[in-house]
Amino acid sequence: MASLYVHIPWCLSRCPYCDFNTYAARSWPEEAYAESLRKELDWFGRLPPFAGAGLETIFFGGGTPSLFEPATIGRLLEHANRRLPIAADAEITLEANPGTVDEARLAGLRRAGVNRLSLGVQTFQPRLLEALGRRHSVDESREALRAARAAGFGNLSLDLIYAVPGQTLEDLEADLAEAVSFAPDHVSAYALTYESGTPLHRDLQAGRVRRAPEELEVTMFERVRERLAESGYAAYEISNHARPGREARHNQAYWRYVPYLGLGAGAHSFAPGESPFGPGTGFGVRWQNERDPSTYRSRVATSGNAAVEREELRREQAMGEFCWLGLRESRGLDPAAFAARFGAPLSDVFPHAAELAAEDMLESRDGRLVLGPRGLLVADSVFASFFG
Ligand code: SF4
Repeated sequence: MASLYVHIPWCLSRCPYCDFNTYAARSWPEEAYAESLRKELDWFGRLPPFAGAGLETIFFGGGTPSLFEPATIGRLLEHANRRLPIAADAEITLEANPGTVDEARLAGLRRAGVNRLSLGVQTFQPRLLEALGRRHSVDESREALRAARAAGFGNLSLDLIYAVPGQTLEDLEADLAEAVSFAPDHVSAYALTYESGTPLHRDLQAGRVRRAPEELEVTMFERVRERLAESGYAAYEISNHARPGREARHNQAYWRYVPYLGLGAGAHSFAPGESPFGPGTGFGVRWQNERDPSTYRSRVATSGNAAVEREELRREQAMGEFCWLGLRESRGLDPAAFAARFGAPLSDVFPHAAELAAEDMLESRDGRLVLGPRGLLVADSVFASFFG
């Protein structure tokens, strides 16, 4: 069992808050890039842990994968299926931006084999969409949501961003109400982050934008959870909410230590045991591809892969990762699985977990360890505490 991520690194313009590996472009070498993706898949598909593995989830992310022709996506899926058989019930997601899709294009993607659509709506308030530098309009978001259902997408997710400068609680309430009115299966809601190196971060430092007060951001985080829960969307992870059975299986694979292969410029991959690069530590290896799309293509053409950064995990690192990835999910971390994997009780390796529990940062539920009410608000610090 494995997951496949395919990175399409182009967008029509670059949003000022984005720190993904994306490039603003009006045209892109679609067929040449797709050929590199296929070659890269061929290279890894013969090696452990991917050789012989079936694909349970596939995710086309970016960038804006909806810029690619449905036929290109279809050929990639056919090729993947020849190399690593796609499970009959595989979840195949494609990220789309409103304004780049209409019903015909979405129907083409559906026919190509994509069965889950993730739409980058972000907000239904025009002035906030503008503050985020998104190039689509609110009406285009509404039309894309309608068209997705009309095109046959039975599994639909939408992304929202909150804690945008100038956003009020009323704005957030309106966003949540409108999001729910489209009856998506899944909602991801992220607080706006100010990543170093982005134009938004520079604006913050220069005083051109003011971030939402921390207290308001906390209230918004709680309001998102409450409103979505009232509408039948359980928070199964810090920022992800779903109707029962509609949790994103691809995300879960990342958190559950499933091997995943990332194809494309800047993509990340993970092999939890055996390494495709030869004997390793046995505790897993992570690697990242060359970020520049044309250098990525050259590397794949000459070497079959484009891995430029590789980290063999030491036992201590793997134990920390296993914990914080497990804690991301609402179902929490299974101490028995930890002990089985690493041959040591979690309480011995991370004795500070007891202190975190005493401070309401962690709590025990059904034999598992989950983030407590205070831990949810400072999740990143809790996660960081599992790294030495
Ligand atoms: S559309 Fe998405 S990937 Fe592209 S620049 Fe904006 S945030 Fe980044």
